[in-house]
Amino acid sequence: MTAPRSSPSNSENSKAARFRCCLDAILVDIGNTLVHEAPPNTPTHALQARLLPNVLQDLEWFRETLPIAAVTNTSVMTESDVRRALKGTGLNRLLDFIITSADVGVAKPDPLPLLVAIDRLTTADTRRILYIGDLPTDAAAAEAAGMPFAPAQPGLRQTVTQWHDVVHRSGHASDDR
Ligand SMILES: [Mg+2]
Ligand SMILES: [Zn+2]
Repeated sequence: MTAPRSSPSNSENSKAARFRCCLDAILVDIGNTLVHEAPPNTPTHALQARLLPNVLQDLEWFRETLPIAAVTNTSVMTESDVRRALKGTGLNRLLDFIITSADVGVAKPDPLPLLVAIDRLTTADTRRILYIGDLPTDAAAAEAAGMPFAPAQPGLRQTVTQWHDVVHRSGHASDDR
């Protein structure tokens, strides 16, 4: 008779760890991905970030296992400007770094802002870093950078889960580890 074993836990399934078979990090757009996009021509000092639903909970959930950073197009704002605009949202402590097009000197769909972000991450494999954004220019930048892309839907956790389901259904994923 075998000794009683602890029942297999479902907790791994309920954690972002389940994405480790495909992902080492997540990059996110900011406007209309994490916060409501400000109307065009809003002066920088007047920007008031309002979070989209569940963003904080979902980012916290991912961060248990995956680093997260942001890549955003801005007309003039640098990382510190963006962080100032995000003050009070709770986002700043959840984003390892923010790459802005103003910092890099070129905007998405040019892949350079994403490539700079990929370079900053400790993980080497571009194909294991997912970019999430709301615009076709986000998708184009990700494709040009050679990384996977998921269109932002309401709920980032849902966005990544659906992307991950499709990857596994299409059989392109590496074996589960
Ligand atoms: Mg956006
Ligand atoms: Zn996977």
